[in-house]
Amino acid sequence: MRLSRFHLATVKEVPADAEIASHRLMLRTGMIRKLAAGIYTWSPLGLRVLSKVQNIVREEMNRAGAVELLMPSIQPKELWEETGRWEKFGGQLLKIRDRKDAAYCYGPTHEEVITDFARNELKSYKQLPVNFYQIQTKFRDEIRPRFGVMRAREFLMKDAYSFHLTADCLDREYRVMYDAYGRIFTRLGLQFRAVQADTGAIGGNASHEFQVLADSGEDAIAFSTDSDYAANVEMAEALAPAVARSAPSATLERVATPTQKTIDEVSAFLGMKPEQCIKTILVRGHDGLVALCVRGDHEINEVKAAKLAELPGESVLADEAEIVRVTGTRPGFIGPVGLPDSIPVIVDRSAAAVADFVCGGNQDGTHYRGANWERDARITRIADIRKVVEGDRSPDGHGTLKIARGIEVGHVFQLGSKYAEAMDATVLDDAGKARVMQMGCYGIGVSRIVAAAIEQNHDDAGIRWPEPMAPWRIAICPINAAQNAQVREEAEKLYEDLSARGIEVLLDDRGLRPGPMFADIELIGIPHRIVVSERGLAAGTFEYRKRNESENRAIDREELLRC
Ligand code: ATP
Ligand code: MG
Ligand code: MG
Ligand code: MG
Repeated sequence: MRLSRFHLATVKEVPADAEIASHRLMLRTGMIRKLAAGIYTWSPLGLRVLSKVQNIVREEMNRAGAVELLMPSIQPKELWEETGRWEKFGGQLLKIRDRKDAAYCYGPTHEEVITDFARNELKSYKQLPVNFYQIQTKFRDEIRPRFGVMRAREFLMKDAYSFHLTADCLDREYRVMYDAYGRIFTRLGLQFRAVQADTGAIGGNASHEFQVLADSGEDAIAFSTDSDYAANVEMAEALAPAVARSAPSATLERVATPTQKTIDEVSAFLGMKPEQCIKTILVRGHDGLVALCVRGDHEINEVKAAKLAELPGESVLADEAEIVRVTGTRPGFIGPVGLPDSIPVIVDRSAAAVADFVCGGNQDGTHYRGANWERDARITRIADIRKVVEGDRSPDGHGTLKIARGIEVGHVFQLGSKYAEAMDATVLDDAGKARVMQMGCYGIGVSRIVAAAIEQNHDDAGIRWPEPMAPWRIAICPINAAQNAQVREEAEKLYEDLSARGIEVLLDDRGLRPGPMFADIELIGIPHRIVVSERGLAAGTFEYRKRNESENRAIDREELLRC
């Protein structure tokens, strides 16, 4: 690619809400441009990287025997009613209507559509097992879209769904997918861990998340120092001893009696649909009123609520709620929002509809994840919620736990018969009897991977792409090409030679001065840079530098063509 013919538009300044490195760098390089909250355009530069990820995912899925198809992103309500998820999915489901007033959603996932496809297409056990996958745009109306494409509302996912006659067969495919995921993330050059995840509401036998290790990750994972044990923290907590235990550096105390507005008042005030807002509780903290909205999608949203308290209408006491304030910090648990000062924590046993959420408050590091009303029904204080901390004994009995932060880039799941049963997806077995199929599902956050890779691979100058994801492998930077015909010709020749060898090479023919030219090439993270200069040519060499090294090296043409 000749850069003068491409569209490269790097910028110096980024908005203040770009909190993490990958978000800042994707904006600075111009890889993405924001259209609306959580909705982005992938520029030509961004798309080159996204396509690299897609290709690797596709190659490994094909190699593992999965077959590609493409399902619609718009899905009819009726399908979602068959599984009960039209209501249960919660606020993340974007519901839309057509001109005839028929209801649809924009697909956040495709279990319903694929199960419908399977029940129509698959008639006999002889057609099984089969694993269908697609790479496609999803929409989830995330409560807090943030970090750019990391937690977007519109994003690209690879989702695969396998169908089987028996649970054993599903188990085998699950392992095939698990291994394929390992190959995908290894090929992408990422440092990751596969961790056990809770099968929770869906049931089924097994679930693993693939977590890219990064301090900015929203998830916490626990792993053993002495064995292969690794789980996300929620899962590790579910296995942790049931005995109540206080957070080591936390003290608990009650705060003022909470008041609760009716859901209609609160949802109108917050501009949310009532069904998204299961319960809002006002807490009087050090810094005034804080409202904690426990929502249908298991997340908690905190807003300064001084105004909320002034709403007309009667305040209802949340009489079954116990509110405690935790002071002090506990490492490894960070929630979605940090407000300054005190940390109100709600333990509300009346919120029966809430299965699992993050609670906590006003200080980084003091949110508690995975408060689960069903599991912890007998809890009376936040200190009784099971939790794991670094140094705990590993649940498998080998070694102690370390806690790290991760970015969930993949998730594999044995669904069992849940969807097939709800939607009556059966095949005939060898005795001619109709049997409900077993299903597995396997997701990869294709667009999230791009951001996750940057989190692991950047420095002050910009991105340092792992080679398999780099938009180009080599950049050629001619110095003073406009004034020097020999430099211009040598750069061109090199460009042609490398291109002819099938190497993805970028020729920076924009005519920039060396400073700004190098800054751009470093910012966009090209792994190898070759400088063509008058001085080098006189010595018969090029100046070569690897993106992740700080020294230049003079190399000759032969060596260069071998690299
Ligand atoms: P998270 O816990 O981060 O919300 P999830 O568990 O809801 O993710 P899954 O339903 O398991 O997500 O979807 C499969 C994959 O899709 C995830 O592992 C993740 O990589 C990706 N993904 C999910 N939500 C988003 C999002 N809002 N933006 C970008 N990628 C996402
Ligand atoms: Mg989610
Ligand atoms: Mg998750
Ligand atoms: Mg998941």
